[in-house]
Amino acid sequence: MSGRIKTLSDMLKKGEISSAELTRRYISRIEKINPLLNAYVLKTFDEAIRGAEYADALIKQGKAGALTGIPFALKDNICTDGIETTCCSHMLEGFKPYYDATVWQKLKSVGAVLLGKTNMDEFAMGSSSETSYYGAPKNPVNLSKVTGGSSGGSAAAVKADIAAYSLGSDTGGSVRQPASFCGAVGFKPTYGAVSRYGLIAYASSLDQIGPLADSVEDAAIIYDAIRGQDRRDSTSCPTADGVTKLDGDVKGLKIGVPEEFFSEGVDEEVKKSIEAAICLYERAGAKIKKVKFPAMKVALSVYYILCCAEASSNLGRYDGIRYGFRAKDYGDIDEMIVKTRTLGFGKEVKRRIMLGTYVLSSGYYDAYYKKACLLRERITAEFDEIFKDCDVLLTPVAPTTAFDIGGRSASSVQAYLADVCTVPVNIARLPAISLPCAVTKEGLPVGLQIIGRRFDDGRVLSSAYFFEREACVKVPLCKEVQL
Ligand code: GLN
Repeated sequence: MSGRIKTLSDMLKKGEISSAELTRRYISRIEKINPLLNAYVLKTFDEAIRGAEYADALIKQGKAGALTGIPFALKDNICTDGIETTCCSHMLEGFKPYYDATVWQKLKSVGAVLLGKTNMDEFAMGSSSETSYYGAPKNPVNLSKVTGGSSGGSAAAVKADIAAYSLGSDTGGSVRQPASFCGAVGFKPTYGAVSRYGLIAYASSLDQIGPLADSVEDAAIIYDAIRGQDRRDSTSCPTADGVTKLDGDVKGLKIGVPEEFFSEGVDEEVKKSIEAAICLYERAGAKIKKVKFPAMKVALSVYYILCCAEASSNLGRYDGIRYGFRAKDYGDIDEMIVKTRTLGFGKEVKRRIMLGTYVLSSGYYDAYYKKACLLRERITAEFDEIFKDCDVLLTPVAPTTAFDIGGRSASSVQAYLADVCTVPVNIARLPAISLPCAVTKEGLPVGLQIIGRRFDDGRVLSSAYFFEREACVKVPLCKEVQL
């Protein structure tokens, strides 16, 4: 059976529906459902209608591609020329970029239809989207639960089908973890496979744009449309030619299971669901091997030192002069900058800037930042060693399922623990996918993570495709969202 994107694309190409009509349907769903979910922080319906007209012209000329005419959403940290891009921060309120991110430019040129910008943690710092200046989005599977984060609005929009698909960004898990919490598919490509040009920087050595989708097939289609080297992002790399093949053949596939990902803090139900998924691969002829990843114990600390250090530097540019918000009532320029940053940034962002400034300061640089850089090498080397004998790794995406809104906002450290299974992937610049593998007794989705070698993105997607096809996991939406 075809996924959402292929189904819509076939309807468009056969003339059963026009892109303008499809776009109007999505707009009316957004009007009804978004007030419940707070998934969009900006609706770009004029842009959508313009895009749909362009798409319909392409279809008429027989020039339609896989994504032509299909309505989608962008996380609010991806720059859109002339369209407000705020990172869900007061600091960037009213900021309209003067250029398009490469990913948006690529999608626009093939006739993709932009419905709006989605909710996220402020500057992508968080794991529940609750640090958004616009309030937390809600999980379409259960409205009392968080969506995960930071690409929470993107995941919620895709799951509720108020966007056919979406793009998010993943610095330490922000595409995969919300996908797992909302029952969607989230793919973080190899670092460098997708251009970061126009992605507002959080931690540049870890940031990566990736798709949130309704199926693995959709994720592969989107990945193919956005990947490739870009001269405007010096860290981007060429990727394999042609389209990603999803044969879903796992016979003889060497699967590693790193036991450290299943240790303390991982819910029993999550553990059992992942183990059941591993059995499915085994029954289909994959070879399962337990592997050791001792560096796991330092990964979270390494991540939070590196991301805060990079964030403190990247966010130095918000001075009230060049972008978005500027405080009123100040005596001199120093006071203006201090007031702007004091009022413009939220609590979590300030905490990270301070932590980052601390670990980079002379006297502490060697003890924290330099040590974290060295440990990054060790983590990467451990993965390389494992991948000598394994094709992919299977792990949970997060230790728990979606938690209650407001349930963890009191403790940052507790919130940081939610990232323990996702951050090692960013540290080592690997590709990984999150896809639903079970539904708990409470009705919440559990995500399975598949991690691959650098630039072996195709194999990650194909291995995930196998599971999706065989397991047929269905994650129902809550009744308020079912229309
Ligand atoms: N939760 C992690 C953090 O707060 C990851 C966020 C992300 O990937 N953008 O940094």
